[in-house]
Amino acid sequence: MSIEKKEAAELLSLDKFNVDEDEAHIVLDKSICRQCAAKPCLYVCPAVLYKLDANKEMSFDYAGCLECGTCRIMCQKKGIVKWQYPRGTFGINYRFG
Ligand code: SF4
Repeated sequence: MSIEKKEAAELLSLDKFNVDEDEAHIVLDKSICRQCAAKPCLYVCPAVLYKLDANKEMSFDYAGCLECGTCRIMCQKKGIVKWQYPRGTFGINYRFG
């Protein structure tokens, strides 16, 4: 038996998201993010949802969130002012395998 190696983007494309457009389940206070030098969220999010824009401002979109909670744990300055699981029927639907 052999195991096929796949890229992260390919694996993530197998997942299905029902995005709650009316209520974000993760909210940042970008004024706090601005003061954070380490910005661990840029490195720990497995879905790579945290990015810096051209002005070095934090850019984040909760639409592809895997609901792992890593960013919540790693955020040192409490720039994530809201983190909760999406409302019922919303969020990720894993279709792995
Ligand atoms: Fe990324 Fe996980 Fe945070 Fe979602 S919960 S934004 S996947 S680190």
